[in-house]
Amino acid sequence: MLGATGSIGQSTLEVLAHSPHRFHAWALTGHSQLDQLAQAARQSRPRVIVATDPQAARLRDWSDLPKETELRIGHEALIEVASHPEVDIVVAAIVGRAGLESTLAALESGKRVALANKETLVIAGPLVVELAAQHGGELIPVDSEHSAIFQAMQAGRSTEVTQVVLTASGGPFRNHTREQLESVTVEEALNHPTWEMGPKITVDSATMMNKALEIIEARWLFGLDPSQIRVMIHPSSVIHSLVEFCDGSVVAQLSPPDMRLPIQYALSYPERLPSPAQRFDWGATTQLELSPADPDRFPALALGAEVAGKGGTAGAVLNAANEAAVARFLSGDLPFHRIVPACQAVLQHHTFDPHPSLEHLMRLDQWARQEIQSWR
Ligand code: NAD
Ligand code: MG
Repeated sequence: MLGATGSIGQSTLEVLAHSPHRFHAWALTGHSQLDQLAQAARQSRPRVIVATDPQAARLRDWSDLPKETELRIGHEALIEVASHPEVDIVVAAIVGRAGLESTLAALESGKRVALANKETLVIAGPLVVELAAQHGGELIPVDSEHSAIFQAMQAGRSTEVTQVVLTASGGPFRNHTREQLESVTVEEALNHPTWEMGPKITVDSATMMNKALEIIEARWLFGLDPSQIRVMIHPSSVIHSLVEFCDGSVVAQLSPPDMRLPIQYALSYPERLPSPAQRFDWGATTQLELSPADPDRFPALALGAEVAGKGGTAGAVLNAANEAAVARFLSGDLPFHRIVPACQAVLQHHTFDPHPSLEHLMRLDQWARQEIQSWR
């Protein structure tokens, strides 16, 4: 479990605890929340834990670890555990670009990757898909929308799919006017109406950049043309996404919003297992409203579709610009409504290359992070 201390990581631990005879955590990794990492180690007794922030790791007294658990420190250890022969499945739940190399290492070793880290596909979609195909690695989505599409697609053949519809809760500012969006605070942006997630993806949900990244993720994961991907606003987050087939039939996956379900499915696929996830209350009314997203108030959506269409270096630049812009917003240094325009501008300024190497993508990642710093 790469990123065991985060929101997806903690939900994954609950999934494992629910099926102890099926799953066992071989390694857990965490960056700076090291007490949480040690606690997770005491709970699930892995063979190895990795603390990636060396300074924080060296300051801590690790005498509270279980006897059988070995501590490794630093980013290189992520690659070692992600490609270790005793590991069958790698849960990729590190946030942002920091999760790229370890996810690639897992695919290169032919593992099943339960992919929460959508940024990996946004940065290097074609390279990731190719690497998986070359080495027999398997990419199973954890992102709830993509898990829903993956599940719904089993109702037909991939050649019979005409389009997919990604649902979006619309985040906390779904009904905000453009003017209201200009005075949004960090606290308001971190208060998501239906999902409890890490800070970066919560801000992404508020700007709708999360949906932009998900359009790109869907494009590479399912080999779709961007014109086949739509977004609909669905405030209750119950329909996780829909697939339309060539006969006009639409197949959707529904459940109360609870990440433990898509996480477990990525681990158990093609089987389904009893899970700790919430169930519908069939005695209550459930809202299944779907409405088109407003492209004027949420320009991130058009940006996502554009980047999905371009491919090449566009995804890496968008992702890096967004990560850096969100970090600036969270530290009070960039207004909320400037996040998406800043990303748009950096994207326009970069020299596009349709077939970049991974090294080229990493150089552009650095460049885009620097560019964002000059924005107000
Ligand atoms: P989080 O912030 O709660 O957790 C992030 C994890 O990454 C932590 O374990 C942290 O230790 C680790 N990490 C952070 N920086 C690191 C670094 N430099 N090196 C190594 N490890 C580092 O985030 P989250 O909400 O759990 O999201 C994780 C990923 O899953 C993201 O890519 C997000 O887009 C995706 N995702 C999350 C949800 C959700 O419900 N939380 C849903 C769909 C997709
Ligand atoms: Mg999602």
